[in-house]
Amino acid sequence: MDDESAVIIQEEEEALSLQRKEPPRIHRLEESVVNRIAAGEVIQRPISAVKELVENSLDAGSTSISVVVKDGGLKLIQVSDDGHGIRYEDLPILCERHTTSKLSAFEDLQTIKSMGFRGEALASMTYVGHVTVTTITEGQLHGYRVSYRDGVMEHQPRPCAAVKGTQIMIENLFYNMAARRKTLQNSADDYSKIVDVISRFSIHHTKVSFSCRKHSAARADVHSVATCSRLDAIRSVYGVAVARDLMEVAASDDDPSGSIFKMDGYISNSNYSAKKTVMVLFINDRLVECSALKRAIEVVYAATLPKASKPFIYMSIVLPPEHVDVNVHPTKKEVSLLNQESIIENIQTAVELMLRNSNTSKTFHTQTVCPSTAGSLGSSRNTQLSPSKDGSRSQKVPVNKLVRTDSLDPSGRLHAYLQVKPPRQPEGKTDLTTVRSAVRQRRNPKESADLTSIQELLNDIDGNCHSGLLEVVRHCTYIGMADDVFALLQHNTRLYLANVVNLSKELMYQQVLRRFAHFNAIQLSEPAPLPELLMLALKEEDLDPECSENDDLKEKIAEMNTELLKQKAEMLAEYFCIHIDQQGNLSKLPIILDQYTPDMDHVPEFVLCLGNDVDWEDEKNCFQTVSAALGNFYAMHPPLLPNPSGDSLQCYKKGTKHDDIKNGRNSPNKLENDAVMKDEYDNELLSEAETAWAQREWTIQHVLFPSMRLFLKPPNSMATNGTFVQVASLEKLYKIFERC
Ligand code: ADP
Ligand code: MG
Repeated sequence: MDDESAVIIQEEEEALSLQRKEPPRIHRLEESVVNRIAAGEVIQRPISAVKELVENSLDAGSTSISVVVKDGGLKLIQVSDDGHGIRYEDLPILCERHTTSKLSAFEDLQTIKSMGFRGEALASMTYVGHVTVTTITEGQLHGYRVSYRDGVMEHQPRPCAAVKGTQIMIENLFYNMAARRKTLQNSADDYSKIVDVISRFSIHHTKVSFSCRKHSAARADVHSVATCSRLDAIRSVYGVAVARDLMEVAASDDDPSGSIFKMDGYISNSNYSAKKTVMVLFINDRLVECSALKRAIEVVYAATLPKASKPFIYMSIVLPPEHVDVNVHPTKKEVSLLNQESIIENIQTAVELMLRNSNTSKTFHTQTVCPSTAGSLGSSRNTQLSPSKDGSRSQKVPVNKLVRTDSLDPSGRLHAYLQVKPPRQPEGKTDLTTVRSAVRQRRNPKESADLTSIQELLNDIDGNCHSGLLEVVRHCTYIGMADDVFALLQHNTRLYLANVVNLSKELMYQQVLRRFAHFNAIQLSEPAPLPELLMLALKEEDLDPECSENDDLKEKIAEMNTELLKQKAEMLAEYFCIHIDQQGNLSKLPIILDQYTPDMDHVPEFVLCLGNDVDWEDEKNCFQTVSAALGNFYAMHPPLLPNPSGDSLQCYKKGTKHDDIKNGRNSPNKLENDAVMKDEYDNELLSEAETAWAQREWTIQHVLFPSMRLFLKPPNSMATNGTFVQVASLEKLYKIFERC
């Protein structure tokens, strides 16, 4: 049988097998196809090539690196350095896949210090562009130049004149990938991405001078000179306006059983204002991204300096190399860290502390200048008062042009349009901060996270997470409270109502498990005796609290539960930071979310729940039920005083029985009272209620939502149990309006 008829038979067979729906044949791809597919992944855009080339130059010990770019990198990328160069003998295999001078055995990855290790970058470039290398090593009289295609040399290396180091040129990037070239040709921002990356490198590697310019331009867009001072480097690259508003920040942990790391960096203060967060992050000298850390810091800014909530951050984190997995991303733009959570938390705390201190000093400053207006109120007021000295500040956009697009940008939130009295939150917060810093202890170096039952519970959360809701939670914009329990959210073009009680309950539950055995403490100002708390809770359960019929029985239950909790005290303290002393007093509670203390009105209910609902027999069930009880206690329930901004204003008319108000019941004599004392309100109670509700709304906006974006994994049940309700889709609304 000749080749042609063999092919025909094969095609017929394939056609037949398609008709019969048989499985298609599996065959091996040609190596060149494999290499091109892989190359497309490693070199995704011109910027990926630039980053790889600069990293190679840094690995080669260069002190000067210059980048020239034509047509956003599609026509030409040229990186020249003064590093150690490439040996003549290595040139033939330089651009083959998996050829490297940096790694021999897989285990070396654990301790790798160089940026490259896969030997893939140069090879990939030759599959998607035309690569020419010119290089000279020390002691040579001349250098060599050679071009590569698809991993191999196009000709023997040619001797040429050369200056110290290596120059690598890539021409016609993606010449053989029409679709990608087209998309990139239309996007104008590749050059600015390249400038951005070179800027980032240059503020970290301060001993190396960098330059980056367009091919035809005489002037470089980045030009840094080697310096000893990081701040000088930032000033020369990002400008005086940025460098002026920076503070030095540092954090570290040297706990050998937990996370070991050192971080130092610069972060912007309350004077800094920008439209976008800039985060320049190096982990073990690698330029990487870490969205969890970025979000964690943004959360702190949004809560502490709402007016300067888009910070500039430069951070360098150093960890033992064996704690970093560098091999998790094709372009190496992410790494994975051991104990990432606790490192992030640690850094978050350090940033928070810096911001609070900077904020306090600013308050002081304003007070001396203008004592009548500056109070103990927080940042937002003070930053408003401070004159704008910076011409680069973002211009004010007219209100009618404001679009809620950024989930962290406060503009466009509902309350901005309402006349609401300023919440009195910051006063309480100062106290809380003092308490917190007073009791903040070193983290407990327990082997807690090794407990398999906790790991299982955490896995359950991950396994049961609803991906659609996760997307909504991560990227939604908080608009305002629609009623006492539902918040209005926008996600893309959709509006949702979300039940904040359910959401906060779940978030607290998940955080208890994540912080398990690593809590900071809230110290109760007066230890509370359990028997009394339990009695209160048992009485509250009764329909008629005045009735003392079953008091003996209740006392018995209270006594038994107190005994039980005293027995479990050690475990509760160690794992959950719930401290019960030998006299049966509750003295400490855990901090589950920073900046948040639960409503202490719910303590009795919580203690009763610990006594009644916890399964003490099985370890996993026990941890789960205690965490759920904490979740329920810390959830953002509506305050007990009815909301004075709605119909419940009636309750605050004088003559209404206070007990009834506290219990959320309207007075049976309401009508009568209405008639007798028109508009006579109990102002003290009214203002207490207003404060409670304003504080809760503040907390929902500034603590709950930012933390949810960061930490919440919404369970599947939330999609169907009414926690999220989609109320409108803007496209549909616009269509309706168009017809009007
Ligand atoms: P990797 O960096 O992962 O080793 P690359 O494909 O980026 O893989 O580079 C392959 C090898 O080429 C490197 O290991 C290094 O020895 C050499 N090399 C690449 N660029 C340079 C350079 N600018 N100076 C000196 N050597 C270089
Ligand atoms: Mg490399």
